[in-house]
Amino acid sequence: VNQIDPDHTRLARELAGQGVKYAVAAWVDVLGRPKSKTVPIDHLPNLLAGSERYTPRGMGGIGRMNPVEDEIAGLPDLSTLQVLPWDRRVAWMVADMSFGGREPYALCPRSILKRQIEAAAEMGYVCQLGVEPEFYVFKPESLDAGSAGLVPISLSEQIRPSPAYDVQSTLDSMPFLDRMCDYLTELGFGVFSFDAEGGDGQYEFDFAHAPVLESADRITLFRLAARQAARECGLYATFMPKPYSDLWGSGAHFNMSLEDRAGVNMFRDETGRQGWSKEAYQFVAGVLHHAPALTALANPTTNSYRRLVDRLADGEISWAPTKISYGYNNRSCMIRLPANRPALENRAVDSAANTYLTAAFMLAAGLDGIRRGLDPGDPRDDLSYTGDIPRLPRTLLEAVEAFRTDPLTAEVFHEAFVRDYAEMKIGEWERAHRDVTDAERDAYLLNL
Ligand code: GLU
Ligand code: MG
Ligand code: MG
Repeated sequence: VNQIDPDHTRLARELAGQGVKYAVAAWVDVLGRPKSKTVPIDHLPNLLAGSERYTPRGMGGIGRMNPVEDEIAGLPDLSTLQVLPWDRRVAWMVADMSFGGREPYALCPRSILKRQIEAAAEMGYVCQLGVEPEFYVFKPESLDAGSAGLVPISLSEQIRPSPAYDVQSTLDSMPFLDRMCDYLTELGFGVFSFDAEGGDGQYEFDFAHAPVLESADRITLFRLAARQAARECGLYATFMPKPYSDLWGSGAHFNMSLEDRAGVNMFRDETGRQGWSKEAYQFVAGVLHHAPALTALANPTTNSYRRLVDRLADGEISWAPTKISYGYNNRSCMIRLPANRPALENRAVDSAANTYLTAAFMLAAGLDGIRRGLDPGDPRDDLSYTGDIPRLPRTLLEAVEAFRTDPLTAEVFHEAFVRDYAEMKIGEWERAHRDVTDAERDAYLLNL
């Protein structure tokens, strides 16, 4: 533990005066869930000095227990301190995990992202990220039935084929949406719109982009805020990528760009092809090149792959990508170069992705494209679901195999991370694979 800073003692007193009673300093586990011990506010100076220690078991399935190992210290990032709008007793910070309080912990997602931010800085770049999270909100019809008893909150059977942008659906859900918008606004997200998405009870919030670390920190709070606002209305929010086969999946499009040190966007170039710079194309090429490995992070559950299909059961287009492709304003491609903003939109990422890990590898892939001067080939201007272009992995297993063998993985992640992540995800795939489903019985039992 480092020395107590007298300024921190003053800060603790000030917060206590505002009614704050506790502080948390959350790191995230492999699923992006925040974890922290809670300390009474007079203990804040100790917390900031790194007093709180954790076992790697808290990493949500990837930390290996070694009983004689030093514990992991959570080192709070004071610049992230905010009082939680829905519980003003609690001061929230994010933390980096540090091994023995000295070096970054190999499995810490935030530390992994910070390393790539440094790699970008060495090349003279600052990475910006904007995330567009989509999610479903349900109301419990019958609490006994578990997830089967949950129904989407805006029942819009009359709105077919889809309630996307539907104002009536938005107004129907205003008690939840208004609360959510207030929380995000108070947290400084810079919300600029929200809407009813394409699925019944599916919503999206759009807010300002920010330096990549700040955006990743925000997504942790976004998920907490959504669950909280929903609960306060007697509802449930879920970031499961594809809750129903006949409704749209929940994506979390990543809009990534590079700026130079002076804050000038590097992707726009009025003299470049379609107004995009050489770096933008090379970055796109890098992301496409490493797309199979990236998928293991951007689409981290067995359920994620049910979203990466071209159509829903009724034949409607899913608007989720299936091919490793890019295009201008083409929403059927994995990567879209949108007309209205100087960032590339990666549409493959889903709402279950750990933002730190996904952003770290996507940034590394883009930088690799720039370093090697990769060429993304020609853009697609058609529905990119067909044709002879490589496909994104169809299963978690396929993605994890690409993750293990892509040489860039070993540069971005410690070998302990690659080993533990791959083992965990293959285990997850195997459990689902062992399961004989009703759909399978329907298809085969009476026919074979
Ligand atoms: N919900 C779609 C998905 O699964 C994306 C819809 C959109 O273009 O915003 O990615
Ligand atoms: Mg959307
Ligand atoms: Mg989008």
